[in-house]
Order: sequence, then C-alpha cells, then structure tokens
Amino acid sequence: MDLSLVDLHSHTHESDGSLAPEELIALAKNTGLRALAITDHDTLEGYLKARQPATDAGIELICAIELNSRLYFAPPGGDYRSVHLLGYFLAGPPSGPFTARLQKALEDRRTRNGQLINRLRGLGIDITLEEVENRGRTLTGRPHFARVLVEKGYASSFDDAFTRYIGETAPTFVERESQTTEQAIQSIRDAGGIPSLAHPIRLSMTRDGERAVILRMKEAGLLALEVFHSEHNADEQAYYSRLAKDLDLLPTGGSDFHGAPKPNVKLGSGINNNIRVPYTIVEQMRKLLQQPTEHRA
Ligand code: AMP
Ligand code: FE
Ligand code: FE
Ligand code: ZN
Repeated sequence: MDLSLVDLHSHTHESDGSLAPEELIALAKNTGLRALAITDHDTLEGYLKARQPATDAGIELICAIELNSRLYFAPPGGDYRSVHLLGYFLAGPPSGPFTARLQKALEDRRTRNGQLINRLRGLGIDITLEEVENRGRTLTGRPHFARVLVEKGYASSFDDAFTRYIGETAPTFVERESQTTEQAIQSIRDAGGIPSLAHPIRLSMTRDGERAVILRMKEAGLLALEVFHSEHNADEQAYYSRLAKDLDLLPTGGSDFHGAPKPNVKLGSGINNNIRVPYTIVEQMRKLLQQPTEHRA
C-alpha cells in the first residue's frame, strides 16, 4: 500500500453515488488513501457526514463540490455545452453566498426533475417524481431516473437509459438551469476555493479549441485542471499534464468514484489502475491558497 496516494474526485449517496459517507471513508481507509475529497454534485452533506468517520480513520478529508455550468463558446451557432467544475475548499466548508447558490442549484434540479417526469410520462412511461425522489437523499439526479427506468424494464442498462431518455442527445432530455462556467468559477473563487476543470476530455473538442476555451476559463479565475481521471488514458493524462504546465494551472486528479452506478471505476485507482494521484497535489493546493490573490490570477 502506497500511503502517499489521494483521490480528489468522489461521490456519496448524498448526490448520485451509492455509498454512504461513512462507507466511502471505510473504503478509502481500506484502499490506503492518505487524503480524500468528496466532490458531491451541488451538496456538502456527504462531506459533513464524513468528517467524524474520517477523523476516526486518520484520513485527511477535503471539503469539495462539483458544479454544473453552461459553457458559451465561439460561433458557429452560439452553441453551449455543459461543463463540470470542481471546487476545493481546503480551509473547510464555505458559507454565505456559496451555500445560498447551492440551495438554488437544488431547486433548479427539482424543477428539471419535474419537467423530465412530464416528458417521460408523455411517452407513456409509468414513472412518478415521488418514485424517483425516493432513491435520492439530499438530491435526485439523472442516475436515479436511470435506475427506475432499468428496474421497470424501459431501458436495458444505465447507458441505454441515458441514450434513449435522459442523456443530452435524447429526445426527452431537459436542460437544467445553471450558472455560466465563468460565474461558477467566480463563485468558487469568491468562497475561497480552488476551481478545477473536471474531466476536460468531456469537452470533446479539438485540442486547439479546447486550449482556447481553457484559457478563457483561466481568465475567469480557473486555477486548476483535472489531469488524472478514470476517463483519461495514459496519453491524455500526459497531454493534460503538459497543458496544465503550459497554462500554469495546478494539476488535480481523482477517480470520479460513484460506486454501483459506475462499477468499473475504483476509488483511488480508476479504471484498470489508470490513475495514481500523489499527495504532493494537496500540498500544492495548500501552497496556492497561501499566496496573496494578486499572484494567483
Ligand atoms: P444530473 O446532475 O442529475 O443532470 O445528472 C448528471 C449525472 O449523471 C452525471 O454527474 C453522471 O454521474 C451521470 N451521467 C451523465 N451522463 C451519463 C451517461 N451517459 N451514462 C451514465 N451516467 C451518466
Ligand atoms: Fe455524478
Ligand atoms: Fe463530472
Ligand atoms: Zn464527478
């Protein structure tokens, strides 16, 4: 066991993972991780509930979040796409405007869920909001919809449920109200956190286009780039590592562990051991936060 490894991207059942916060800490302990960041979507509940178990287990727990945002990018078409941002709060949970923003995200999500139910029912699918919300805790997300659709035989698998009904290209997809990427970056910075662009591979752009978009995010205050991720192969990790260096962004990384919804993704090691995230990254994040603001941007 290498006790200098960390995982800076993981989910509990307070968002769309399957493990309870204390179960995730027990797994991190078994995996031999030195530090863990719980990056639930839109909620700090999982982190708050994991604090005591982490202390008991001797694991350094980092308060974090994963936010959805809308990226507007250059023409053609004024098109948009959804971008995930991770926010790391090494000094502990942010308060005030940031938590108010999370409440708003939870409300927007509930509105979206209601609209999605209506669309699915419009297709003749027997599904209710209550039934889906019964599977969630602090929030209900599309993975909970996927479970119901699979269990009731409307989809053959999780992927099939996303492809046919709830994924971005499905006819019944409903977009969730979100901040722009610039706003989300700024809100993390305002709350004293380190914003990192999650799984950049999902931008699905050419390398030039991607670089330009990431540069724009840096101008908006982005401080880090998720270099190590389960969905990045070795070449991509090498590429993003160079890009981070080139753009003076801190490299971060994690498995994006969700438990049962993504059974092939292992905490700490990703898919078939494709990631290895050193503790030195946590030290670099701490150092970055100690720098005065004018040396950061
Ligand atoms: P939501 O935040 O409710 O819109 O749901 C988004 C979540 O669904 C993501 O964070 C992923 O965990 C999951 N997800 C999105 N697309 C897919 C997909 N194609 N297959 C499986 N899970 C997905
Ligand atoms: Fe998720
Ligand atoms: Fe994500
Ligand atoms: Zn994630």
